[in-house]
Amino acid sequence: MSLVLHVDGDRWRAHLREVAASRPGLVPVIKGNGYGFGLRRLARRSGWLEVDTVAVGTPTEVDDVASRFDGDILVLTGWRAFETRAIKAKHADRVIHTVGRLEDLEQLLDAPGTPRIVLERMTSMKRHGFTARGLREAAELARSRPGVRVEGASIHLPLGDGGNLAEAERLLTDIVAAGLAGAVWVSHLTAAEVGTLAEQYPEISFRQRIGTELWLGDRGALDVRAHVLDSHPVDRGEPIGYRGRSAPRRGTILVVSGGTAHGIGLEAPTGESSVRARVSTVARGGLDALGLAKSPFTVAGKARYFAEPPHMQASLLFLPSGVAVPGVGETVPVRVRFTATDVDEVVIT
Ligand SMILES: *Cc1c(COP(=O)(O)O)cnc(C)c1O
Repeated sequence: MSLVLHVDGDRWRAHLREVAASRPGLVPVIKGNGYGFGLRRLARRSGWLEVDTVAVGTPTEVDDVASRFDGDILVLTGWRAFETRAIKAKHADRVIHTVGRLEDLEQLLDAPGTPRIVLERMTSMKRHGFTARGLREAAELARSRPGVRVEGASIHLPLGDGGNLAEAERLLTDIVAAGLAGAVWVSHLTAAEVGTLAEQYPEISFRQRIGTELWLGDRGALDVRAHVLDSHPVDRGEPIGYRGRSAPRRGTILVVSGGTAHGIGLEAPTGESSVRARVSTVARGGLDALGLAKSPFTVAGKARYFAEPPHMQASLLFLPSGVAVPGVGETVPVRVRFTATDVDEVVIT
């Protein structure tokens, strides 16, 4: 009765080891829904990978990870005084905060303790971080006072696909100018780009923060499946679903596990947007012309339409007559966005 992520364990683990071997200084990123696997599983898996540091997104995620991974934990979201969820004292010395504003640094310097921090340089993403000048000021301020321990600088680049080298070089110049050429925490650089930078800057230790490419990089090892829960033959025009909508034609309503609670959402009708394409769709009597939306569920080799918007934990699909109807208890593949899907169970074989 569930949405299940099946993982080919040997293949997945081989991929993880391969990424770790090709990415020196790897810092696995474990945040949000744990890339579909859950935070706790990825925390334990990072220990198995023998990395010394992992990254979480927010302070609220520290606890789940800290009790399952022994090393250091970088918090990616910038430190803010109003983030009231305190990190437990027993974990505090393993946590490294990201700081991207002078006001935050000043508050940390005045607070009790000596938190570990990295100073973030703003990138073309314009999310968080210091300007070149702000970074120099922050580094100087931190050096002049005992209140924090600076563990390097950080740059979070856009999804570059190999096009981030020039920007990384410019930002590294700023980082070096700020006297922060120790550890530099980077994201979204290819292995080749990091290799080039490491040659140019032998004094810098690059820490490569990677989530998607690590956990989800070998999609062939991952298979999300839904159970068939029920099926009902319908005639054209028969009322179906919560809203008493009419069945578009004769066929079968197939009830499968997986709904809005899992992150299953509506997709647009097929992308055929040109007038000509739409006219021919209507002429063919396509289901998208009848206002139905494509679902991420595949039955008998084809993505099927929702009979109505997904329910909380199940979805009603429409199968036209003639399509082989899978039996209750059989499973069907579901195409998901892993970072936005909460499965009921992860089965690693
Ligand atoms: C989420 C995040 C990452 C990981 O991104 P992926 O694309 O999943 O590898 C790296 N760095 C920062 C700062 C992030 O917020």
